[in-house]
Amino acid sequence: MFGWKSKKSELLKFLPEVKGKYIPGEMLSKYTWFGVGGPAEVMFCPEDVEDLKHFMKNKPYNLPIFVLGGGSNLLVRDGGIPGIVIRLNTKFYKKTEIGENQIICGAGLKNSELKKIMTDNNIGGLEFLVSIPGTLGGAIKTNAGCFGKELKDVLLKAKVVNSEGEELEVSADDFNFGYRCSFFPEEWIVTEMTLKTIPQKAEKTLEILEEQKAYRQKTQPVNAKTAGSTFKNPDGLKAWELIKKTGSNKFKVNGAEVSDVHCNFLINTGKAKAKDIEELGNKIVENVKKETSIVLEWEVKRVGVAE
Ligand SMILES: Cc1cc2nc3c(=O)[nH]c(=O)nc-3n(C[C@H](O)[C@H](O)[C@H](O)COP(=O)(O)OP(=O)(O)OC[C@H]3O[C@@H](n4cnc5c(N)ncnc54)[C@H](O)[C@@H]3O)c2cc1C
Repeated sequence: MFGWKSKKSELLKFLPEVKGKYIPGEMLSKYTWFGVGGPAEVMFCPEDVEDLKHFMKNKPYNLPIFVLGGGSNLLVRDGGIPGIVIRLNTKFYKKTEIGENQIICGAGLKNSELKKIMTDNNIGGLEFLVSIPGTLGGAIKTNAGCFGKELKDVLLKAKVVNSEGEELEVSADDFNFGYRCSFFPEEWIVTEMTLKTIPQKAEKTLEILEEQKAYRQKTQPVNAKTAGSTFKNPDGLKAWELIKKTGSNKFKVNGAEVSDVHCNFLINTGKAKAKDIEELGNKIVENVKKETSIVLEWEVKRVGVAE
């Protein structure tokens, strides 16, 4: 783009004045759970929704935009992301408002922050989200789910900002949710959502959360540098079983390995680059296809450009 991998990105000259922050050349490895990824040409952290609307209305035409959530479902390539990477991390995007059997949450709220909100207010129904890394914005995009529940089961409506800088209220159906995915216009930035809750004593919520935490600790590499399940489960099958059955769990590429706790999780043992992790994933796909004719589909989103 504009000689873009520099702390003095030329792109800055073309961007509107905003209340929030522009950070040129910000390394995205700081924000991804894999701990890999090159720079954002410019990271933009809007102060509030008016700031975001103003930016979208006045940005250069055709400027590529990527929204970063908690970075827990991303493999950002080593060359980084050209254009703008938006991060909704101010107080405004973490606000909550409790209503009757519902809660309004900013899209930048971390799923884990729901624990305190639920127990402080004697509400429940969102326990499944607490142990899923990331933010609520990312949870909508990926239709995050576990323990038999998905985001789509609790979403009532949401607000989004489009590429013209208009704020729209949209229904849950407008996101066209599928298994670990949704289909909505690429340009939509989710800013806020209303989720269903139930009245529930804090002790009950804590009890459910403890059980879920214990299960996760037993079955997943919770402290590793990973982005969770790498591949979607093909219809009626388990990706991890296919990986194990075909011996693909033994593959390694430099510092990228398959977790021995859960073989659908790829891990960065310390020195892997994004290209090593992607190569490992692609080798697994090839081998599973060769041995079983089944083509595994990436669940982790690969974004950005090679080094
Ligand atoms: C240890 C571990 C365990 C995991 N377990 C589970 C699990 O049990 N179930 C599960 O479903 N997932 C799981 N995941 C995957 C991941 O946590 C989820 O997919 C999560 O919802 C991603 O949210 P995020 O905020 O980190 O999004 P990111 O990874 O930052 O982004 C994911 C996508 O969401 C988009 N996005 C983010 N915010 C917005 C927004 N405001 N508006 C529009 N688009 C947006 C991004 O552009 C990107 O396309 C796990 C990951 C890890 C590391």
